[in-house]
Amino acid sequence: MTCLECNKELGYLDHKNAMESLGVELCHKHHDRMKALIKKYDTPLEAIQLYYGLKEAGVKAMLEWWDGKKSVDIAISRVKLNIEIDSAYERLTEEQAIHNLEEAMHSFKNGFTTIRIPHIVVRYYLNETVRNIIGIMEGLKANLKTIN
Ligand SMILES: [Zn+2]
Repeated sequence: MTCLECNKELGYLDHKNAMESLGVELCHKHHDRMKALIKKYDTPLEAIQLYYGLKEAGVKAMLEWWDGKKSVDIAISRVKLNIEIDSAYERLTEEQAIHNLEEAMHSFKNGFTTIRIPHIVVRYYLNETVRNIIGIMEGLKANLKTIN
């Protein structure tokens, strides 16, 4: 067991603490860093799990990326893809829904594609989610080529 961020060997307690609170293997230092990020941005746990799932698949992404207007849960800048984790579908109001659509529109105008992923999909189908995102990245890359 090693830290997904720095590859440091994890002791039993570090491993247990990080798995229980975040569901990812992190050393004490990187666990603390993630906890600070969550406190600051209210980052969903699934965004962190997906971020490390992507990292393990070789995808370079950014957590809580500031796009000039808002913080995006995960951004993959190479293909201009923003990923937002929806953590409370059952409480989605029409105001939130139209707000989401407006945000997606603004991102599109800046050349960014936004996809929204329900948190339960990340929780139960992490590998499939990563696979689909890689497929979306390939599609976006092909589209970028045709434009340029
Ligand atoms: Zn570490």
